[in-house]
Amino acid sequence: MTMDKTGFLGEQVQDLRDGGLYNTIRHIDGPQGSWLVVDGKKVLNFCSNNYLGLANHPRLVEAAKSALDRYGIGPGAVRTIAGTMTLHDELEAKLTAFKGVEEAISLQSGYVANTGVIPALVDQDDVIITDALNHASIIDGVRLAKAGRKIYAHADVFDLRVKLAEARAEGARNILVITDGVFSMDGDIAPLDHIADAAGEFEAMVMVDDAHGEGVLGRGGRGIVDHFGLHGRVEVEVGTMSKAFGVVGGYVAGPQALIDWLRQRARPFLFSSAVTPPDAAACIASVEILEESSELVDRLWANSRLFKAMMSSVGFDIGHSETPITPVMLGDEKVAQEFSRRLFDEEAVFAQAIAYPTVQLGIPRIRVMISAAHTEDDLAYGAAAFTKVGKDLGVI
Ligand SMILES: *Cc1c(COP(=O)(O)O)cnc(C)c1O
Repeated sequence: MTMDKTGFLGEQVQDLRDGGLYNTIRHIDGPQGSWLVVDGKKVLNFCSNNYLGLANHPRLVEAAKSALDRYGIGPGAVRTIAGTMTLHDELEAKLTAFKGVEEAISLQSGYVANTGVIPALVDQDDVIITDALNHASIIDGVRLAKAGRKIYAHADVFDLRVKLAEARAEGARNILVITDGVFSMDGDIAPLDHIADAAGEFEAMVMVDDAHGEGVLGRGGRGIVDHFGLHGRVEVEVGTMSKAFGVVGGYVAGPQALIDWLRQRARPFLFSSAVTPPDAAACIASVEILEESSELVDRLWANSRLFKAMMSSVGFDIGHSETPITPVMLGDEKVAQEFSRRLFDEEAVFAQAIAYPTVQLGIPRIRVMISAAHTEDDLAYGAAAFTKVGKDLGVI
């Protein structure tokens, strides 16, 4: 018998299965939409971040096709070496105007944007102060930075002020406060206005990750800074093109000096190739759709209100979301998995259980992602399915 050096990993996977923490990845055959073919079965889609239904929008598909014809498929190399395609410049100009900032830089994903901007912005003489529930990509960006770090209690501006005062007392040169805009597991909105006030008092920079806010909050989906009217008071806005915008990619938006610096020093910009031409073209089309009309954003909110009202009225605990993210709180990891399995097998509803380590142990949930693509009939069908399974499992 050969020595099995990776056997411990098999045991770790088995532990996940035993603990109800094993994540089963489903297979999707066909485009995104309110209904999907998953593992060969047609199901109602409550899983994707395709908030506005743009992931299979004909205008995006058309833009990607014509970019393929004009620019081909690959970007060649990193932009600093192979040159930047006009499509990437155009996308950055579109994002700059849409976000109402001085400049924007396009990166490969939201994850990459966070891991690129944070280490580029702070050094060993600086301190990062970060919300306890920030997204994993922020945590990883913070880990890559040489700065000191402090964690403040979730959305707690009082605790943030304590940490700001500590950092100043310790002689920090620059301070960077980082928060998610919308917290993706609970759907609550960061108190960014109060955060900006507190940061202002201590001359700290503010960075917000708007991944679940853009296309959702603010005028026509312009995001959390617009929602609170904080233009010019939040130094760094990170975003993704993979959620409401329906494609893939990330960006950082902010003052000219910040973006100039990132073009020189953000490692993912220097050492990783850009999104492909069809991706960039589709992203441009999606920003244009949002610029033209708030129709999709309005429909998203109407759908969310309707679904939440249906779920509350039958007795589900749907947490304290302020956005279309609808967490159905279940309290037990195994119940959450069983609930999700029954929804899929018996009711043809695709809604994944989310448990540790994505959320803390003991507070698993099924997270329902509402989209402008859903019809009222879809939402009624989904709520009825939840009600049936919820009663069977004694949850409601
Ligand atoms: C989804 C998400 C990201 C990652 O975005 P990608 O473009 O998919 O890499 C980053 N931050 C937050 C808060 C997110 O929700």
